[in-house]
Amino acid sequence: MRIEIDKKKCTGCGECKEACPKGAKIWNVKDKAMATNLRFCHLCTICASKCPEQAILVVRDDNKPPE
Ligand code: SF4
Ligand code: SF4
Repeated sequence: MRIEIDKKKCTGCGECKEACPKGAKIWNVKDKAMATNLRFCHLCTICASKCPEQAILVVRDDNKPPE
């Protein structure tokens, strides 16, 4: 999985870090937000739903077609 942040939309408000249950581990917000240490992420998508700019996209990679 990965978390994409639209740097053009992100204002650095820090809502994502506040809202994320693992915010202190995952989110690094200065001018723009960055999500790191994604092994702590449990794909709850709270960050994406709380972002006032809709700048966050949580992408799951587990929807590959069956072989
Ligand atoms: S909540 Fe959205 S706009 Fe605010 S810092 Fe996080 S990604 Fe950026
Ligand atoms: S999906 Fe949930 S655990 Fe993962 S970064 Fe967003 S709020 Fe945090």
